Amino acid sequence: MCGIIGVIYPLNTEGNLASQDVYRGLLTLQHRGQDAAGICSYRRPPKSFHLHKDSGLVSQALPQTVLSQLDGEVAIGHARYATVGNSQQCDLQPMISGGESGARVAMAHNGNVVNYHALSSVHLGLQTTNDLELILKIWAEELKGAANSFSFQEATMATEKLFKIVKGGYSAVAIVESAGLVAFRDPHGLRPLMLGKKSLGDGRFSYCISSETVAFDFLDYEYVKDVAPGELIAISFTGQIQSVVLSSLSANCMFEWAYFSAAESMIERRSVYGVRLNLGKRLGIRLRQLISQMAIAPEVVVPIPDTSRPAAIAIAEVLGLPYREAFIKNRYVYRNFILDSQKKREELIKLKLSPVISEIEGKNILLVDDSIVRGTTIKQIVGLLKKYRAGQIVVASTTPPVRHPCYFGIDFPQRNALIAAGHQEEEVAQLLGVERVVYLDIENLKEAIGISNLCLACLNNHYPTCVQEGAEFAEKREEALRWNC
Ligand code: SF4
Repeated sequence: MCGIIGVIYPLNTEGNLASQDVYRGLLTLQHRGQDAAGICSYRRPPKSFHLHKDSGLVSQALPQTVLSQLDGEVAIGHARYATVGNSQQCDLQPMISGGESGARVAMAHNGNVVNYHALSSVHLGLQTTNDLELILKIWAEELKGAANSFSFQEATMATEKLFKIVKGGYSAVAIVESAGLVAFRDPHGLRPLMLGKKSLGDGRFSYCISSETVAFDFLDYEYVKDVAPGELIAISFTGQIQSVVLSSLSANCMFEWAYFSAAESMIERRSVYGVRLNLGKRLGIRLRQLISQMAIAPEVVVPIPDTSRPAAIAIAEVLGLPYREAFIKNRYVYRNFILDSQKKREELIKLKLSPVISEIEGKNILLVDDSIVRGTTIKQIVGLLKKYRAGQIVVASTTPPVRHPCYFGIDFPQRNALIAAGHQEEEVAQLLGVERVVYLDIENLKEAIGISNLCLACLNNHYPTCVQEGAEFAEKREEALRWNC
C-alpha cells in the first residue's frame, strides 16, 4: 500500500505552493506507507523538474530545507510501503522517465502489478525492481510528441495500452512535461483515487488528486469526485480538465473501508467511519444471537486501537455492554500491519500497545478487531490479556475470514501466512487461545459498505483480474522480505 497525491496551480504561480500542499497532504496519508517518501515538482518555463525522495517518514524524508527547493506550479508525492521491490534508493518514488522518445514524465503509484515479473523479462533495461518503472515506461513511450504539445488522444492510447498489458490494481498520478497533472485508476478501480479543487479567489482554481479525501479536508480542497475505475484525467496549467473512462468494470477494495483508509475519509461517497459503525452494528446483532444461545458472557467490549474503535462502540451499543479501552496506543510507533516483515511486526506490537490492567483483570472480554489476517497482533494481545488475568476472551472480527492472498497492493500475497486459510472459526479460536472467534459474514459486510461492486477476492477467491502470475508474485515477495530482514 502507498499514499499518492498530486497538486496543480495555474501557470506562473510563484514559489512552491504545489509542493507545500503535497507535503502536507502526504502527512495525512502517512498511514498508507511509512518506508519512504518523495516529492517531484515541475515549473513549466523553464521546463525543470525537482525531485527529492528518501527513506523514513514524510517528516524525515522531506526536511523543510529540501521543500523550499521543490519549486513549480505542479507537484506529485508518494508515501511508500514496499510490496514490490526492495527498500533501495532506486526503488523509491516518484520516478522520472528519460523522455528519449517524447515528453519527460514523473509518476508515483499505489498498488501492485500482478504480472510484473513476466513483463519485466520482456521490457528489458529496467533500472529498478519497482513495478512503477514498468508502468511509467509503457505509458510514457506512447507520448511521442508531448514534450511540446500534449495530446490527450495520445495519453488515452497510452492508457488503453497499459490497461491491456498490465494486470493488477494500481492508481497513479503523473506530471507530464509542458502539459500538467495527469492521473489514472486501473480498470477495476482496486486502489482509490479522488479529485478535489480549491478556489484561489480570483476565479481560478488549484486541483488536487489524492488517494484519500482526508488530504482535501486538511488542505481546504473541496471534494469533486472519485476518479472512476479505468478513468484517465488530465488537468492543464490553465485549469482545463479532460477525462475519459476506458473501462466499465468496477471492484473497489473492501479492505479500504474495513481497515486501511483513514476513518475520516470518504470512498465512493461512503464515510469510512460510518461504514465501520455499520460493520459493528451488524456484527453486534450476530453476537447477540450467539451470546443468548451459548455459555459466553462478555462483560466489556474492548477495541484493538485504533481502526476497530467505531465498530467496538457500535457493538457495545447493540449488546448494552460497557465499552472500555484496555490498551493505550503509543502514537510514536509504526502501524504494524504495513511493516514489511513478520519479525519487525512482532517486535513492534510489544512496543505499540500498553495494557490498562484495571480494565482487564478478572473481566470477560469481547475483543473487537477490524480483521484477522496473519493473527500476529491479536495473538500477542490475547497473550497480554491472559498475562493480566482476564477471564473469558471472545474475539470478534468485522472482516470475514481472510483465506486468500491479495496481489493488488495489500501485503499478504502468501496464502500460508493467513491464519484462517484452511481453518474454521473453532480452529482459529484454538490457534489464538480464546473461547470463541466470531466473524461478520460476507453479505453483511457488503450491506454495511453499501455498494455492490466490491473486490472480495481475499474472502471468496473470486479475483477481478487474471492472477495467473500470482504464485510467482508471492514467491518473489517472500524473497524480497528475506533480503530485507
Ligand atoms: S483481494 Fe482483498 S485486500 Fe486485495 S484488493 Fe481485493 S478486497 Fe482488497
